[in-house]
Amino acid sequence: MKFVKNYRCTLCGREYSKDEKIYTCPECGEKGILDVEYDYEGLKKILTKSYFEHNRDYTMWRYKDVMSIREEDIDKTLKVGWTPLYRSNNLEEKIGIKELYIKDEGLNPTASLKDRASAVAVIKALENNADTIACSSTGNAASSLAGNAARLGLSTVIFVPERAPQGKLAQLLIYGAKVISVKGDYRETFNLSKEAIDHWGWYNRNAAINPHLVEGKKTVAIEIAEQLGWQVPDWVAVSVGDGCTIGGVYRGFYDLLNIGLINRIPKILGVQAKGCCPFYTAYTENEPLKPTDENTIADSISVGIPRNPVKAMRAVEDSKGTWITVSDEAILEAMKTLGSSEGIFGEPAGVAGLAGVFKAVKEGIITKDETVSVIITGNGLKDVKNALKAAGDKIECKPDIEQLKRYLT
Ligand SMILES: *Cc1c(COP(=O)(O)O)cnc(C)c1O
Ligand SMILES: [Zn+2]
Repeated sequence: MKFVKNYRCTLCGREYSKDEKIYTCPECGEKGILDVEYDYEGLKKILTKSYFEHNRDYTMWRYKDVMSIREEDIDKTLKVGWTPLYRSNNLEEKIGIKELYIKDEGLNPTASLKDRASAVAVIKALENNADTIACSSTGNAASSLAGNAARLGLSTVIFVPERAPQGKLAQLLIYGAKVISVKGDYRETFNLSKEAIDHWGWYNRNAAINPHLVEGKKTVAIEIAEQLGWQVPDWVAVSVGDGCTIGGVYRGFYDLLNIGLINRIPKILGVQAKGCCPFYTAYTENEPLKPTDENTIADSISVGIPRNPVKAMRAVEDSKGTWITVSDEAILEAMKTLGSSEGIFGEPAGVAGLAGVFKAVKEGIITKDETVSVIITGNGLKDVKNALKAAGDKIECKPDIEQLKRYLT
C-alpha cells in the first residue's frame, strides 16, 4: 500500500486519492474503471532481482509492495500463487515452436487463477470492515471467493447463472456460500447481483468494477517473468471473458517494465470462444464492443457483455498482440492434448488459451522461432462433464486376463 499513489480513471483520466472509497469513477459511472497508480521510483529501490532471490514467500504476496492492500492480514489467507511454470516436454515439438511454457493456474487453492483476485478481495473486505462479500460469476470467481472468504471467517453471497458446472457449485456449497442460482444468463446474473449489492451494501468482488482485483490477477504475469529469470517470452496467451485477467496480465508486465525488472512487454494473445467473442469481433471490425450470444462450452469465458472492456482492449493493443477465436471442438482437443502430452488437466476455458496458441502457430501469427507462455486458467476437475466429452472411451473388461489380452493386442 505504501507505494500506491492514486487511482486514475481509464476513460477520462481523472485522478482520485487512494483514500477515497470508490470502485469506479464518479464522473464516468460504472464504465469508468479505475487503475491503481504506483510510485515506480520508490519501488525501483526495493524491488530488485536480488530482493526476489532472497524472498522466501512463495505465494502471490511476494509482490505485495506492488499491490493496493493493507498487509496486516495477508498471512491468514490461503496460499495463492507461485504456481508452476513448466517448460513443455512434448508439445513444443508437436506444434513446432521454439519454446513453450505452461503456467498451471489450476493448482491454486480453489483450482483457478481467480484465487489471485479473491485473495485480494477478502483482504479489502477486512480493510473495509465488511462481514459479507458478494459477487456474480460464471463460476470460478464465485467458488474462489467462497473459499478464500471462508478461510478468513467472512460470509459470502454468490450469484451464478444456472448453467454453472456441478464441480464449481459443489465447491461453493462446501465453502459455505449462500448461493443464488439465477434463472438466466450471465448478464442477468450480473445485474441482479449489482442491485442486491447496492441494496444490502456488501463488499463487491465483481472484478471489473473493483480496481484492486486486477491488481491481484497481475501477479500471474509477474510470476511468469520471475520464473523465467526476468526474460519474458515473445507471447503470452490467455483466455478472455470479462477481460479482467488479460488486463491484469498486461498490468503485471507494465509494472515490471516501469520498475526496470524487464525490458519489454510480451505480445498478448487474447483468446475467445467462437460462440462468444465480443472482443475479437470489436477488434477485427474495428467497432465498439457489442453484446453477443453466450454459446460455448467454455463457461468461464462465456461472457456476452464483458465488464472490463477498456483494460482488455488496451492489453492487446499496447502489447502489439492480437485476438483470436477457437471453436469448442478445438478447445476439447486442446484439453486432451495437454492432458495426454504434459499431464496437465485444464477446464475448457482453462485450455482455450492453448487452443489459441495452436491456431496462431498454424496461421503464422506466432512464428516458429518465437517463445510462448500459455496460462492454463482453471482445473479440469471443475467440469468433468465436458472433460469426458474430450477424453475418448475406456476399455470395459471382465476380470479375466484372457479377455484383457485380446483387448490390448
Ligand atoms: C474467469 C476465467 C477466465 C477469464 O477471465 P476474465 O477476467 O473473465 O476475462 C478464463 N479462464 C477461467 C478458468 C476463468 O475462470
Ligand atoms: Zn472517469
